[in-house]
Amino acid sequence: MEDFNEKKFTVVKNHTAQAGSIKQEEPFATNKIRLSGLDLARLEDLMEVWGEKKFRASQISSWLYTKNAKNFDEMTDIKKELREKLKDEAYISDVTIKKKQISADGTLKYLLEYKDKNTAECVLMRFDNRANLTACVSSQIGCAMGCKFCATGQRGIIRNLEPYEILEQILTIQRDTGLKVTNVVFMGQGEPFNNYNNMMEAIRLINSCLMIGIRRITVSTCGIVPKIYDISEEDLVPTLAISLHAPNSGLRSQIMPVEKRYNIEDLKKALKFYTEKTGKRVTLEYVLIGKLTDTRKCAMELAHFMKDLKCNVNLIPYNPVNGALEFKKPDKKDVMKFKFILEASGKKVTVRLERGADIDAACGQLRGRDCG
Ligand code: SF4
Repeated sequence: MEDFNEKKFTVVKNHTAQAGSIKQEEPFATNKIRLSGLDLARLEDLMEVWGEKKFRASQISSWLYTKNAKNFDEMTDIKKELREKLKDEAYISDVTIKKKQISADGTLKYLLEYKDKNTAECVLMRFDNRANLTACVSSQIGCAMGCKFCATGQRGIIRNLEPYEILEQILTIQRDTGLKVTNVVFMGQGEPFNNYNNMMEAIRLINSCLMIGIRRITVSTCGIVPKIYDISEEDLVPTLAISLHAPNSGLRSQIMPVEKRYNIEDLKKALKFYTEKTGKRVTLEYVLIGKLTDTRKCAMELAHFMKDLKCNVNLIPYNPVNGALEFKKPDKKDVMKFKFILEASGKKVTVRLERGADIDAACGQLRGRDCG
């Protein structure tokens, strides 16, 4: 009898950079090989082990990542014997949709269940006047960073997501809607830089399997300074968004515990390194909390902070979340005043649309609870 686990090892042993993700799969051990998350090179290895021609790997890859196949019977251009072997020895995905919600503005939110029964959320945002379809993905189940305004931060960390579990969020959206995701933002649950290696591997898979250009992939961090230096040196460098949320260390440390470890001045130095090294602009995310971070003084300080930084700023009016969080939504006129002061400093300023707020899919509202 053939030993599939041995086969699986054979498949990955030539790709040592990816072997870690297979190793971590052990808690979910199965005799069958999961295809989702295997890139073309690994599918070619699998076909070689099975004594099949190399081009079969391209066919399977196309069904998995372009045509969003849900089962092997859909793979009609693959010979019947190989489809039967695939059914016997492999499976496409072990991720299921536990719940799906549709917002009045067309935003879709999915609660996905992984093989160990943990859940994570992902969101598809549609923008009426643009062809872009943006998937907001989670990088961890829960988050350890404890930002005071964030629903996920109230829950603590449960575990990191594997590269294929991140990729699966986009694939699930594509399989369910039949639409092609064009942009990906790592702005769901978790701090991506606390799951750095898996995040980078997921980015490689998103780029190579789903053909989403690196310029269309954005990673948002609360400011894990050493990892900003690391990502600046990668061969694939995504766009960086920084959850700044306060213009000075005193206020920032009141709402973001990360400030005590990596302060705002060190963060700025790291951002300068990133922009100089990559030539890319960073986006500063700034949550406007009523009467706390939305004041004229904060706007002036933020304008000063941005002065010598290659950046845009995205203002996010605070979304109230369920539970005992003490923060308030800002007044609309304060949002406009804040925007005006920053624009006067010559930076591009956007105010984030509150997409999906009626289904708790807006920024800081994802938290892996059963979203009902
Ligand atoms: S804002 Fe981001 S980093 Fe902060 S607790 Fe929430 S998920 Fe974690």
